[in-house]
Amino acid sequence: MSMFRPLMRSLRAHFGPQRWWHDASRFEIVVGALLVQRTTWSNAERAIGNLRQRRILSIDAVARSDSETLATLIRPAGFFRTKAVRLKALAAYIASQGGFAKLDRVATPILRQNFLDREGVGPETADVILGYAFGRKVFVVDAYARRMFERLGVPFDASSDAALKKTVESALPDSDALNEFHALIVAHGKRYCRARPDCPACPLRKRCGYAAAEIGVNDRSA
Ligand code: SF4
Repeated sequence: MSMFRPLMRSLRAHFGPQRWWHDASRFEIVVGALLVQRTTWSNAERAIGNLRQRRILSIDAVARSDSETLATLIRPAGFFRTKAVRLKALAAYIASQGGFAKLDRVATPILRQNFLDREGVGPETADVILGYAFGRKVFVVDAYARRMFERLGVPFDASSDAALKKTVESALPDSDALNEFHALIVAHGKRYCRARPDCPACPLRKRCGYAAAEIGVNDRSA
């Protein structure tokens, strides 16, 4: 669907390149995807910093750590006891499969299901891991994306994350583009398309059905 590329261009022109996790290791991305659940990124980052400082930011080190030590280190991320158990189990799973090199050979639908089978890994977390740590061509459907597309009036089945996911994945060329699009949508959702949107300042207002219908700031002629 051709409308996604112009949307991405507008967001990129406004926010600039996001390049999430550009310098992170693949395991750090996995850890971040799990720890950021139900907290802010800055809290997750503090927890990751603690793991790094104690040299426990590798598959084997996390898999070998005791849950209490892990929980103490990741405390800034909240729900730390639960997350410690889940993180340890996730690391143990990756290690048991032969690490990233072996998992790289697994087809995306199977790999996705394997991650979904891990405790605490839902569709959003699984797709973040697949997109950013494995470079798979997947789009992360989250609350920001649902809200933005619905308000813009992009035609998709709003009741189905799978439909939105498939539509965007077929519209953009590769994993890099999909990862960047997700990051830009998050930036846009945090800054403009909040529960009470800041439509007059939004870079997408000219193409937004919500802005036109609800608050009359659509200036398609501009
Ligand atoms: S114009 Fe308003 S409703 Fe539309 S995408 Fe921007 S912030 Fe969201």
